[in-house]
Amino acid sequence: MTLPRRVTLIRGDGIGPEITNAVVSIFDAARVPIEWEEADAGLACYQKHGTPLPQETLESILRNGVALKGPTTTPVGEGFKSVNVTIRKALDLFANVRPTKSLPGVVTRFGNVDIIVVRENIEDTYGAIEHRQTPDVAQTLRIITRQGSMLVHRYAFEMARQLGRRRVTCVHKANIHKHGDGLFLECFRAVASDYPDIVADDLIVDNACMQLVVRPETFDVLVLPNLFGDIVSDLCAGLVGGLGVAPGGNIGRHHAVFEAVHGSAPDIAGKGVANPTALLLSALQMLDHLGMSSYARYIEHALTATLKANIRTRDLGGVATTREFTEAIIARLAEVPAHAEHEYSRVITVPEPPPPTSGLNWSLVGADVFVEWNDIAHLPAMPEQVARLSLRMMSNRGTKVYPPPTPPITMVNWYRCRYLASQPIDVADVHALLEELRQRGIRWMQVELLCADGDTPMFSKAQGE
Ligand code: ATP
Repeated sequence: MTLPRRVTLIRGDGIGPEITNAVVSIFDAARVPIEWEEADAGLACYQKHGTPLPQETLESILRNGVALKGPTTTPVGEGFKSVNVTIRKALDLFANVRPTKSLPGVVTRFGNVDIIVVRENIEDTYGAIEHRQTPDVAQTLRIITRQGSMLVHRYAFEMARQLGRRRVTCVHKANIHKHGDGLFLECFRAVASDYPDIVADDLIVDNACMQLVVRPETFDVLVLPNLFGDIVSDLCAGLVGGLGVAPGGNIGRHHAVFEAVHGSAPDIAGKGVANPTALLLSALQMLDHLGMSSYARYIEHALTATLKANIRTRDLGGVATTREFTEAIIARLAEVPAHAEHEYSRVITVPEPPPPTSGLNWSLVGADVFVEWNDIAHLPAMPEQVARLSLRMMSNRGTKVYPPPTPPITMVNWYRCRYLASQPIDVADVHALLEELRQRGIRWMQVELLCADGDTPMFSKAQGE
């Protein structure tokens, strides 16, 4: 006999209680060996307990390792932190996994789509590392790490193998972001070499978007950095019918939280018309994660049979209420051929990140100094030589403007001034440069040290450099 697996259940706000009720009753009817541990979160919880995410709820997920979560409302402008973001950060849920599969009776312009999007969930532009450098210039840092990339790629390949998928495609922009996406792609290739049974290829993100809307049926598993993943996963949800049928899971090394992509839909809350499909599919994804795939396929079969029988909720053009739709799925569970034992299959292995790679043997060869210069008609009066550093290049908005010729681009009051040395230097040379700028009254707001690994520069060149 299979021992029940305890899972935290958060019913959430708006339509959350209605759709979680539906999923719980379908799981009961299918005799899935899950024991729910109820926990509170969201706006209603905030109004009751003064916090949208009580410590007991986090502790419940920490204890059980897995949660199924209904949507929670995040009110705008009340100093109320999003429950989803808080959970993701607190539990280090490094991958957002969204299966997108065409369903019968859900009419779309696309054929047979069956794609799983694996999105890196922590880093990239989401680290909130942003600065206003001058009143006219803002920067958002895009941080890609070997550890974050290796984790998400390893997870994508393990999941592909576990679910019998044949191809994993890395989507990136490494032709332009040679260091950021270049590192993401380098890690992808390193991990792919451990999975000779799976086809590994890569696509530039713009081409991937075009091909996804032209030939979506040719894709299998996609793995992407955070920002591209955010956009492309919504694009994929659109391919199969949108919010009502888009499930998702947030995966960490020790914990995982599964929830529908849609929000709490306050406009239809309490009316009994919400579509529980997206949350049900998230719950099936959870069963795959727990190695209970036979139950997942069993319920999926009943869901598909229900949709094929044209029983659909209002959002999909049908007339069924949430309860009628749920009962139709439960009725079809009985029609599935008696299916032997529900055994745990192998659980998707969640990897450990690799240890840090030391950069101690890198040599310091220069510095990029970012300065404010408001006399747009003239280039900044930067010193040509300080200590062992020579001014090699200045760029404005990423385009080289010095040495001449200066192209006729729109200039702003922000220059990157690149100083390089012909031999390795130490940080005292950079201090001397900054002191010289201080004496000249030139305002600088950022310095990036430029390193080389042997003869290979560990920094990019400006356009035209
Ligand atoms: P929130 O503020 O929680 O994000 P929202 O209404 O802004 O809520 P969604 O909840 O994602 O955003 O809903 C967008 C639209 O899609 C709404 O009109 C909603 O009724 C509809 N919708 C979302 N989920 C479902 C569902 N499961 N069943 C039926 N309609 C849905």
